[in-house]
Amino acid sequence: MKTKEITQPMGDVGATVDHPKPHVTAKDYAEMYAASVRDPNTFWAEQGKRLDWIKPFSKVKNTSFEPGNIDIRWFEDGTLNVSANCIDRHLAKRGDQTAIIWEPDDSRTEKAQHITYRQLHNSVCKMANVLRSLGVDKGDRVVIYLPMIPEAAFAMLACTRIGAIHSIVFAGFSPDALGARINGCDAKVVITADFAPRGGRETPLKSNADTALLHCKEHVKCLVVKRTGGQTTWTNRDHDCNAMMDEASAECAPVEMAAEDPLFILYTSGSTGQPKGVVHTTGGYLLYAAMTHQIVFDYHDGDIFWCTADVGWVTGHSYIVYGPLANGATTVMFEGVPTYPDAGRFWEVCAEHKVNQFYTAPTAIRALMGAGNDWVEKHDLSSLRVLGSVGEPINPEAWNWYNDVVGKGNCPIVDTFWQTETGGHMLTPLPGATTLKPGAAQQPFFGVQPVVLEPTSGDVVEGNGVEGVLCIKDSWPGQMRTVWGDHERFEKTYFGDYKGYYFSGDGCRRDEDGDYWITGRVDDVINVSGHRMGTAEVESALVAHAKVAESAVVGYPHDVKGQGIYAYVTLMNGQEPSDELRKELEVWVRTEIGPIAKPDLIQWAPGLPKTRSGKIMRRILRKIAEDDYDSLGDTSTLADPLVVDDLIANRMNRR
Ligand code: ATP
Ligand code: MG
Repeated sequence: MKTKEITQPMGDVGATVDHPKPHVTAKDYAEMYAASVRDPNTFWAEQGKRLDWIKPFSKVKNTSFEPGNIDIRWFEDGTLNVSANCIDRHLAKRGDQTAIIWEPDDSRTEKAQHITYRQLHNSVCKMANVLRSLGVDKGDRVVIYLPMIPEAAFAMLACTRIGAIHSIVFAGFSPDALGARINGCDAKVVITADFAPRGGRETPLKSNADTALLHCKEHVKCLVVKRTGGQTTWTNRDHDCNAMMDEASAECAPVEMAAEDPLFILYTSGSTGQPKGVVHTTGGYLLYAAMTHQIVFDYHDGDIFWCTADVGWVTGHSYIVYGPLANGATTVMFEGVPTYPDAGRFWEVCAEHKVNQFYTAPTAIRALMGAGNDWVEKHDLSSLRVLGSVGEPINPEAWNWYNDVVGKGNCPIVDTFWQTETGGHMLTPLPGATTLKPGAAQQPFFGVQPVVLEPTSGDVVEGNGVEGVLCIKDSWPGQMRTVWGDHERFEKTYFGDYKGYYFSGDGCRRDEDGDYWITGRVDDVINVSGHRMGTAEVESALVAHAKVAESAVVGYPHDVKGQGIYAYVTLMNGQEPSDELRKELEVWVRTEIGPIAKPDLIQWAPGLPKTRSGKIMRRILRKIAEDDYDSLGDTSTLADPLVVDDLIANRMNRR
């Protein structure tokens, strides 16, 4: 099949005034990668020095992917504290440096805040003491249901300071989803806020928490942060966070934690099924988050780093809070959305704070691309040095726009493939070391050993120019350790299908140069007349058409071909669906990829069902394509349930 591979000229970034020498060059990468795989114990023992240990580790790697005995431990006899690594150890040198730049939802009515490392220390200690006063102890669980405000970071770090395990629930989730997660981990305390402003609207968080708590144990306490000051009801399980922090002491000694003590629980997005309570531990996770943050984004002292994710997702955990703060970075925390008050908001924030590294998701890039270049060109983006993408395969069309219009051809794009389960980046180009290919995640990070397996036999596919399922051969420090309360599910989900390997659930292609391309979820692979095809490729072709804004492709039962290609297509603003356009798109895909990829059915879709983190939920689209509407599965993480009703109601326009 034909793929376009454009080599981006900025693959080799030399050192200039604006571009410091990259941490890792192409030569360094090859040497370091080989060493990381040849002798992981020596490699990771050296990297382990990135953290401050209370008691240094003597053992490095102790991991088993053996069926029936999945057991992952890193640095297991070392002890440390995460908040001390993210705050205290920086105080001498960077007490007055900004740790967090907080950017509010509406910049017209509120100002950004700059929180120094010293102020962060103060607030985190206070909040830790507040949690203690509510009876939270080492090993207890705390659910965080907050807007993107500094208190969300304070709460995370306060938990780590006293050894409590946090579980963040995205503020857009419903009371049901929140309640299930509070009960799922048997939390002692829920931290919430009165309201969550986002995109000019306000979600009544406290009232949602009240509803959720009706279905939880009576002793669960609710700690309420004031965000808007709007009116809320008050029950006797509620505690006023601001008042308590005012009173609390700003001294709180960090608790000594074992490297393998749980740090947090976080549920996956639910794109493919019931969300899983992923458990990450203290030492390996923090080290991996810090190292990937520094190297993948080529972060240098004094840089301003912005990851636009929400702390409710793993991306926010690793690349807004833990990675950057462990590195003593300045990290931007943004409360709003890309299109409010207007479609220039991201670029306005980049210009305002002179952001050097900018990290976002393809869904946002596509939306902003649709809004037009004027919004970008209005702002001075000359501070940008590295751009990142995460969450879904980025289609080349969007990649090129990101590169040309946002990066002006000067900023390497790191297309980072990773998962909630992996803790940090797994496959990614490195700025200054990798010659880029639009749409490819390219190369494994240090210590990561990707293998391509033949999907049915599970045989290893050797060589280049091959395709199959993506598995990982051996453990890396950021790997999840278990599913909360269900180690069996952990083993079954990730090690059950292909014995001895971690199974990502994603398909991939290793091209002639040995670069990796994620082809989409394995669940989403379509088999047309014996040809296996990833959904990403067909979608990319459709989106490359000037009249198409977005597209989602699924398979459906087809008498002749086994499976047919069913494409949901969202048109650009102002475009009208017509039979001619349908024909045009069919011909377009034929020429872009080949006759085998021509959609059998196209349904015009005003919107697509997405998770709250912006990923297309193809499992729902598959059900609609199969006319099976009664078993749509878990829809609790759906951003807008009405989209599904609309697609079902309008399914007859498929053809
Ligand atoms: P669930 O596991 O509940 O179905 P999810 O997989 O969407 O949800 P996440 O852990 O948030 O939950 O997302 C990880 C997935 O996102 C990966 O398995 C992959 O499918 C996709 N992904 C992330 N980054 C990239 C990328 N750069 N390129 C391609 N796909 C990506
Ligand atoms: Mg997943």
